[in-house]
Amino acid sequence: MPYRYRLIAAYTAVMLLAILLSGFIYLNDQRLQATSEQLFNKTLPLLRTINQLRSAKVEHERLLYEYYATTDRLRLLPAIQASQSLMADRFEALDGQQLEMFDETRTTFEGIKAVALKLDQNLMNDQVDWDLARAHLIELSNAGRMIDPYLDTFVRDVEAQARRDSDASRAGGKLGTQLVIGFCLAIVGIALFVAFFVDRYIRETAERKRLAMFPERNPNPVISTDSQGNINYLNPAAEDFLREQQLEGKEKQLIPQNLKQAWHSHDEAASGTITLSERLLEYNLSTLKDLELAHIHYKDITEQHQAEQALSHQAKHDLLTQLPNRGQLEIALAENTHNTNSFHLVLLNLHHFERITATYGYQYGDMLLRHASQRINEHLQTENLLQPGLCRMDGSNFAFMVPGSGLSNTQQQQMQQLADTILAAFEEPVCINDNEFYLPLCMGISQFPSDSNNVSGLLKCADSALMQSRKVEGNCIQFYSSQLQDTYKKNLTIENELRQAIANSELELFYQPKMDNHTGAVTSCESLLRWLTPEGVPRYSPVEFIPIAEQSGLIIPLGEWVLETAFAQANVWRDSQPMVTAINLSQRQFQHHDFLPLLKRLKARYPGIEPYIELEITESLLMQDISSSIDTMHAIKDLGFGLSIDDFGTGYSSLSYLKEFPIDKLKIDRSFIIDMTNNKEDKMLVETIIQLAHSLGLATVAEGVETQDQLAALQTIHCTETQGYLISKPLPAREYGRFMEEFQRNQSSVGLIR
Ligand code: C2E
Ligand code: CA
Ligand code: CA
Repeated sequence: MPYRYRLIAAYTAVMLLAILLSGFIYLNDQRLQATSEQLFNKTLPLLRTINQLRSAKVEHERLLYEYYATTDRLRLLPAIQASQSLMADRFEALDGQQLEMFDETRTTFEGIKAVALKLDQNLMNDQVDWDLARAHLIELSNAGRMIDPYLDTFVRDVEAQARRDSDASRAGGKLGTQLVIGFCLAIVGIALFVAFFVDRYIRETAERKRLAMFPERNPNPVISTDSQGNINYLNPAAEDFLREQQLEGKEKQLIPQNLKQAWHSHDEAASGTITLSERLLEYNLSTLKDLELAHIHYKDITEQHQAEQALSHQAKHDLLTQLPNRGQLEIALAENTHNTNSFHLVLLNLHHFERITATYGYQYGDMLLRHASQRINEHLQTENLLQPGLCRMDGSNFAFMVPGSGLSNTQQQQMQQLADTILAAFEEPVCINDNEFYLPLCMGISQFPSDSNNVSGLLKCADSALMQSRKVEGNCIQFYSSQLQDTYKKNLTIENELRQAIANSELELFYQPKMDNHTGAVTSCESLLRWLTPEGVPRYSPVEFIPIAEQSGLIIPLGEWVLETAFAQANVWRDSQPMVTAINLSQRQFQHHDFLPLLKRLKARYPGIEPYIELEITESLLMQDISSSIDTMHAIKDLGFGLSIDDFGTGYSSLSYLKEFPIDKLKIDRSFIIDMTNNKEDKMLVETIIQLAHSLGLATVAEGVETQDQLAALQTIHCTETQGYLISKPLPAREYGRFMEEFQRNQSSVGLIR
């Protein structure tokens, strides 16, 4: 119960008690007054009357005795009559007092009067009968003695009556005293009770006052309202806030919508946010129902909210392109795979992007990615994509989802059209700082649910489709197919078998000789890896298993084995038939941290071996990361080994780089050699390459020479060396001696040399 009500109840109790007590005391007082009035006005006069009666009787008797003695009637008779009338008068006064024995007393008194008369008549006679007179006197005395007990009875009666009255008053007085004591005790009790609550109230008020200081000094807005939402207090911070937001006089806008609801609910607190003039305020509302007050505390969380939004945006978006990131795509993918609706997952890759970053630096790369992502997004604008639209996966990979099943032809066509739209976006070059970049795109597409019904499966399928599409030069689109999956599975099998093969030493190095076009002598060879069955039949071609070894990382131990074996072989041949042995390097091997240390170890193991070793690096490998490639090439050259660029002409290497590469040889790819005798353009190209190489002081090797005509043509244009089946297929080392003998024999008879 609120204090106010408790105090009112206490005061009412005190008032009621006081009224009751006053009434009682008033009544008691009236009775006392009546009793004392009775005493004064009735009892005391009665007692006096009785005494007077008694005195008058005694006086009457004495006068009669004196009369008898003196017979002085003249003097005594008036006195006797006076006392008789006094007695009569007093009797009159006692009459009506309902005294006990009153009538008997009166009769006796009448008797006295009669005897006195008889005595007077006797004494008045001249002949006084003295005996009779004495008899009368005795009779008088006896009558007088008889009256005394009656008068005593009267006195007792009156006294008893007075005592009763005084007892009643005393009892009334005692009760009054008890009541007053009780009232006093009650007052003390109530006073203590009131004091207790007043004390508590004062304490709480003090505490409230102290707490009330908090809002005053609180740097955050605080307001106080009644249950109707009328504001009765605004702290200085709230006023400042309203002033800053130019909302003076509009403090009602601070009141949350749910105030009334909060007021009627059981909870004493509610919270939420409100937006005022672009500021976001968080509020905590607490109702003090006993005081009919609601306190609302505000906190301006605008900046915090913005920071949270920004953080959440950052967590979900790619910082560079501001596109949704991979996480978002995977979440959306997971959601979509829970639905039954079919859709396509499209992975998109900017082909050769790495090459541009390597050439122009990361800043260009970043700008390029931003431009490219904008362009793709613009062209996808009208397309019906699934949320969250275009996403950046990593590097130059993007992804998006398109609803629909790819099983129908129209759908396939639609996807093709979509792809064409994006490809069309990149027909125009992207221009950055006056440099124009043509960005070939490739796309890999997987379908839900036909290709896979889960996120990782769909990503894997799209990825393998993308990988497939990357293999085809130029802009292209590749749907995932089970054939791809078969390839994938086959690759996995090959990978597992390859691990076994390395352990079981099923691998062998073959060596393919190269002929010096000028001298006609075999002065070098290329080591080529072979994977043979126990029967000596090739199990897989290196074209199949080398890329798998490369992908799986197996190329590292495998490449190490190749280097060690080829070095050992070159070391053997160094004494018997001096020859340069060329060794193929893969990208991963070339970039591996242990690659140069391994070369150093081999160099240390076979001192002086350097002139007999040449390392072949493919052109496309070098273009992956040009600056680090150049560093590694220098390190190889510094160790003293020869260096050649393999498959030259296929890797789009910018010719401007060629002079920066510390190389000795260019190996012209077989694809140019095949047709050079029929195709003039190819012949021109080969010729240009050879001239270029010579101008840079580089030797040239023609790969895959199979015919005499090809050799002749190459010799005409001063190609340095020839490699191909025309000279020999790759041979095991053990057959090499026999080959050399045969070759020298044939050389003179067939006349390979000009
Ligand atoms: P590559 O370095 O261009 O090797 C030349 C390929 O052409 C060899 O195929 C060789 O057998 C083949 N070839 C040589 N002359 C002729 C010819 O007149 N006609 C035809 N049709 N082909 C000819 P191979 O041995 O199957 O090797 C294929 C590729 O595997 C190599 O291409 C090379 O890139 C890679 N490779 C082979 N061995 C190794 C190795 O030990 N390490 C690394 N990293 N790669 C290797
Ligand atoms: Ca090679
Ligand atoms: Ca080659």
